Amino acid sequence: MAQHDVDLFVIGAGSGGVRAARIAAGHGARVMIAEEYRIGGTCVIRGCVPKKLLVYASRFSHDFAEAAAFGWSVPAASFDWATLIANKDREIARLENVYRTNLEKAGVEIVMGRAVLEDPHTVRLLATGARVRAANVLVATGSTPNHGPAIPGIEHVISSNEAFHLPELPRRVLIQGGGYIALEFAGIFEGLGSEVTIVYRGDNILRGFDDDVRAHVRQEVESRGVRILTNRHVTAVDKSGAHYVAHLDGGETVEADRVMFAIGRHPNVSGIGLGAAGVEHAEGAGIGVDAYSQTSVPHIYAIGDVTNRLNLTPVAIREGHAFADTVFGGKPTRVDHADIPTAVFTEPEVGAVGLTEAQARAQFDAVDVYKTAFRPMKATLSGRNTRVMMKLIVDSSSDRVLGCHIVGHDAAEMIQLIGIAVRMKATKADFDATMAVHPTAAEELVTLRQPIARHVRAAAE
Ligand SMILES: Cc1cc2nc3c(=O)[nH]c(=O)nc-3n(C[C@H](O)[C@H](O)[C@H](O)COP(=O)(O)OP(=O)(O)OC[C@H]3O[C@@H](n4cnc5c(N)ncnc54)[C@H](O)[C@@H]3O)c2cc1C
Repeated sequence: MAQHDVDLFVIGAGSGGVRAARIAAGHGARVMIAEEYRIGGTCVIRGCVPKKLLVYASRFSHDFAEAAAFGWSVPAASFDWATLIANKDREIARLENVYRTNLEKAGVEIVMGRAVLEDPHTVRLLATGARVRAANVLVATGSTPNHGPAIPGIEHVISSNEAFHLPELPRRVLIQGGGYIALEFAGIFEGLGSEVTIVYRGDNILRGFDDDVRAHVRQEVESRGVRILTNRHVTAVDKSGAHYVAHLDGGETVEADRVMFAIGRHPNVSGIGLGAAGVEHAEGAGIGVDAYSQTSVPHIYAIGDVTNRLNLTPVAIREGHAFADTVFGGKPTRVDHADIPTAVFTEPEVGAVGLTEAQARAQFDAVDVYKTAFRPMKATLSGRNTRVMMKLIVDSSSDRVLGCHIVGHDAAEMIQLIGIAVRMKATKADFDATMAVHPTAAEELVTLRQPIARHVRAAAE
């Protein structure tokens, strides 16, 4: 590899790129990584981590409201957005530094600035104009918010990127979108005291999740005062003094102090020289790769959101690690994208793993559905109007648990552990044989006795 400056050039120091660079360097490769914004990428800088910190902040208002029934008198609470954002920014800066230090300790050379492919083996660093010859290239450029068609007034619309840095908490927020990012920000703003309206073009929020989860979350979120307008979309946004007026199809208007769109994300494939390098990709669909994350050009690989497989941080990290082990560790490794547990940090949370009821009924001849909805113990005293929902989807013939869906406090923590059982192909009998932990909400998962329904697929004619 003497004619190359490095064994591996990684474009993008996000979740996937950083892991790949560190592991490849650990296998002895000479690695360079370029980052045009901040080390750590979306998850650390303007995704999972700052979002979860804001979610924590938003939940205090509910806790204060519940405290009285447990004997506490809490003086009227006040909230300061500037303090929250400053503390959040300090923590993000600390994490960014940890990522940088870990790369440096691993012997990875970091270059700040945009990197583009000039030909299959040459990467150009736009800040300096320098060219780097690389034996292998890893594209780990992630994804960016996509605002959809350019409606009038689109320049007034913010994305999650800006929501993390607003100068003040908006009194009224309109969020267009029905996915997890839209719902999580709705919960954040609602908990911190804003009036929130969600506008979504589909029938119901959280497309792709189990239908009972979608209905339950909608009801819970609405009961907290978030207005959800479905089968509607924003056609224009006007600025009117210090606030905005969003026009919806059908003529309705909604006034808001901020209008945010969270309607999807685009893989970052534009302007990075994929054409010059001969890498096949489709605009919007991401870079096509095989099970080893190899693109149509054998020494160019792609991982994470830019491949648009399953756009989650742990997936990008696993793909980056597998790539490094495959190419530099002599250990070909595929990533299994089945049964990946996932969470939505709404209030209450969603945790899901495996098949939804609809997916299971389409794939299996007979499916048993176990479901329960109950008032959590804490709410019996506090009087809070909330219910937990839990659902198991079971293959009737093998007894295997195909899917688990939870809406309730700490559902994200629960689903991480249930994910192990589902991946190990645990049966309903295994769940039943597991002793309950009492008193918990999770014990309901091992005490579901009778299915609420058995669905048998009609035989094909
Ligand atoms: C608001 C929000 C909340 C989220 N919450 C969660 C969550 O709770 N759990 C979860 O699992 N996932 C969550 N995600 C998704 C998660 O952030 C992504 O799946 C993950 O960051 C993808 O990692 P990646 O390495 O593919 O890309 P990224 O982390 O996006 O990293 C790509 C990096 O490449 C850089 N880059 C791009 N082009 C170039 C170039 N030409 N030259 C140099 N650098 C370049 C970018 O600046 C970026 O830093 C969330 C995302 C958002 C937006």
